[in-house]
Amino acid sequence: MKPINLISDTVTKPTPGMLDAMFNAEVGDDVFREDPTVNALEAKVAALFGKEAALFCPSGTMTNQIALKTHTQPLDEVICDEYSHIYQYEVGGYAFHSAISVNLIQGQHGKVTAPQVEAAIKPVADWLPASRLVVLENTANKGGGSYYTTGEVQPIRDLCLERGLKLHLDGARIFNALVETGESPLAVGAQFDSISVCLSKGLGAPVGSVLTGEAEFIRKARRIRKVMGGGMRQAGYLAAAGIFALDHHIHRLKEDNLHARHLGQLLNQLPYVGNVRPVQTNIVIFDVLPPLTAASFLEQLAQNGILASPFGPQTVRFVTHLDVNADMIDRVMAVLPKLG
Ligand SMILES: *Cc1c(COP(=O)(O)O)cnc(C)c1O
Repeated sequence: MKPINLISDTVTKPTPGMLDAMFNAEVGDDVFREDPTVNALEAKVAALFGKEAALFCPSGTMTNQIALKTHTQPLDEVICDEYSHIYQYEVGGYAFHSAISVNLIQGQHGKVTAPQVEAAIKPVADWLPASRLVVLENTANKGGGSYYTTGEVQPIRDLCLERGLKLHLDGARIFNALVETGESPLAVGAQFDSISVCLSKGLGAPVGSVLTGEAEFIRKARRIRKVMGGGMRQAGYLAAAGIFALDHHIHRLKEDNLHARHLGQLLNQLPYVGNVRPVQTNIVIFDVLPPLTAASFLEQLAQNGILASPFGPQTVRFVTHLDVNADMIDRVMAVLPKLG
């Protein structure tokens, strides 16, 4: 039997419908802005979030890194939660590409509040980094898939406006949040100077992320993409997958979130499990109790055809996605009580 892969929502493969859309894409040279499918994807994402322009990139790391570089100057700093992807999982790119420092907040489940951001903003002095940019992550990956509502973001937005800071959203999984809150992408777009959205996570595209913002921001961002080597040519084949994903795979993210919730409810009842982080979207993070370790538990899972990833010596992460259906979740739920 094929293993059930809960390692990440990046493992999804294109569906037949998506492959069809890719094969039939009309393409051109996107570095010359002549790929109609890339142009259509960028226009679509910009319109969704009520922004003027957008930029298709190979990865979410690149869209985030381009945003950092475009919003800042060397010797500035970015304020973010200590769990942030831009700090944890982007190879320290903020220092490498942008020559900026990072000012970390200890939030809750990857989320920060306006008072915490306010306390982090540095006064202006020759010997201090200049606080220039705040980055929020929605949903928060290492935070266990927790999400912000627009009501929670608004005080942070107001603070940034008042203090002259830019606000970027790492919205790798923003649609996993929006299917829960019922809020519109337009409301989110109005709160941020720039937004990065991953097409290659639960949305199911094989490659790609989109950065969206105002026209002048994206004009600068396009040059940064080029210097990073991210200018692709007939990228419309990939953009077609992204358009298909946005048209067909947003609504169904609700299923992934529901599957994760079911897994979380079961884990909470198992004697060998502790500290199941609150499950808000498609990520489940929990500890296994000694004598189990994450490694020994993952081995037991693998013997039962289930793949997951370690998130610490005692900590395990499950991620639900497009390629894990309800039957597979039932199989996982049947196996879990037998382990330990
Ligand atoms: C996956 C992810 C990214 C981007 O990752 P890539 O693998 O570079 O596309 C950015 N932010 C968060 C929160 C993510 O989970």
